[in-house]
Amino acid sequence: MQGRGHIGIVGAGLGGLAAAALLLRAGYRVTVFEQAPGFARVGAGIQMGANAMKALRALGLDGEVRRIGFRPESLLNRDHDTGAVTNELPGGDALEARYGAPHMCLHRADLHAALAAAVPAEHLRLGRKLAGLDQHTAGVTLTFTDGARETVDAVIAADGVHSVVREQMLGAEAPRFTGRVAYRTVFPAALLGDRQLGNSRTKWWGQDRHLVMYYITAARDEVYFVTSQPEDPSWMTPESWSARGDVEALRASFADFHPDVRHVLAACPQVWKWALLARDPLPHWVEGRVALLGDACHPMSPYMAQGAAMALEDAVILSRCLAETEADGIAGAFRRYEANRMPRATDIQSLSAENTFLRRPGGTDWVYGYDATTAPLDEPGTR
Ligand code: FAD
Repeated sequence: MQGRGHIGIVGAGLGGLAAAALLLRAGYRVTVFEQAPGFARVGAGIQMGANAMKALRALGLDGEVRRIGFRPESLLNRDHDTGAVTNELPGGDALEARYGAPHMCLHRADLHAALAAAVPAEHLRLGRKLAGLDQHTAGVTLTFTDGARETVDAVIAADGVHSVVREQMLGAEAPRFTGRVAYRTVFPAALLGDRQLGNSRTKWWGQDRHLVMYYITAARDEVYFVTSQPEDPSWMTPESWSARGDVEALRASFADFHPDVRHVLAACPQVWKWALLARDPLPHWVEGRVALLGDACHPMSPYMAQGAAMALEDAVILSRCLAETEADGIAGAFRRYEANRMPRATDIQSLSAENTFLRRPGGTDWVYGYDATTAPLDEPGTR
């Protein structure tokens, strides 16, 4: 191998695109293989915490996200029925001063489009679904479902919660259905009439269910909410991880929530229903010249809004490890990436599953204060 080498990235989701853009800047030859024939505009919002915004800064995208997104004036937490405030973390300038970056809310598709724009089209292969891979002395050969094959020097598998590469590395094991579903939707704020959301990102906490709502544009003209509630396990089928939901059933299951919540649910025209899936932390993410990244290695409950943030941090740390090596050192750089990312991602994965983050004051500094661009890098085995 000579020079930087050729890295194949499986999956053009948020994590795969971030890794591609950063590795191109580091001088690697990069090809991204994505199963979808194009990018759909899924109706969903996404929060980018200050730690995620610092990772986006490494890509030069923080300005764009700030321009298009909504910067909440606080992260507000309220009891589901009385509306009593249990915790309010100041947002806006105060959060930015405390953590060195803002907390932003935006349309997931707008974030994806910004990341995709950072990867020139000649590095993207759409409609390429990975079937399996094989490591050998000359590199790693990827085989696709249409029979095509490509050989690269190393592979980053950012192929999400149903990762084919994870399965090949660690054995077949379906992600666990948590027994809960998320309803989510995006709709025009005009449908709320005079009773708008307010300028916070608000989480309404019930006994066994909750709902998070916020604007997703700087103009505050689009609204997003996402819920979590128990669901009969018999509902879970391989197809049900993203299906159309029943708005009336959703309204009924939040009937005892505060009138402000019921107003939003009454106004919403349609919803999607997602099974919430989880995996236990994996024993390793790296094998030779193949590394897992993002949901492929640490899928988590969405309760801390940190899944994509972890994928972005992964991409930054991985690119920092790879920037310090040539192609012959890729396997060592992958081990260093794993050693540096696994403890933090595993802690976030575990805390997220508890669904306690932000309900009461405290415990936010280690999450939002982290900066993947400057965090010290340990060598494997030095912890
Ligand atoms: P994905 O985004 O899943 O991308 C994987 C890509 O790989 C896809 O494009 C897929 O088509 C492709 N692919 C899969 N298999 C193959 C194959 N065999 N061959 C080729 N391509 C393949 N995170 C936050 O930070 N903030 C939030 O507010 C937030 N809200 C959330 C709300 C909900 C309800 C849920 C479910 C999640 C939320 N998350 C949030 C988590 C976040 O969405 C994920 O952690 C993030 O999308 C992971 O990115 P990824 O690139 O690892 O995987």
